[in-house]
Amino acid sequence: MTVEKHPPGGTIKKVGSTVSNKTGTWRTFRPVVDKEKCTGCGMCERFCPDGSIVVNKTTRKAEVDYDYCKGCMICAEVCPVKCITKQVEEK
Ligand code: SF4
Ligand code: SF4
Repeated sequence: MTVEKHPPGGTIKKVGSTVSNKTGTWRTFRPVVDKEKCTGCGMCERFCPDGSIVVNKTTRKAEVDYDYCKGCMICAEVCPVKCITKQVEEK
């Protein structure tokens, strides 16, 4: 019996390589924060699966990193004051 050898898939060859994979290009919807209404509670930051929204320590307002945000809109779902709106991404 012949055993075929295949190259391994899904291998991360270099630590930190995900930084160069700008997943924001996958996005269909864009979360937009209304800074006037944002209370800086940090719920969006806690629930974002990609670490793409953070509360700025100086302004105490949420900011989205659009280079990596995939547009799942979980942040908008969990925001207690509903200040994140869903917009169709312009490509
Ligand atoms: S849309 Fe999803 S990936 Fe983008 S900031 Fe909100 S929770 Fe994170
Ligand atoms: S969950 Fe809403 S109110 Fe809280 S920091 Fe995020 S955007 Fe601001």
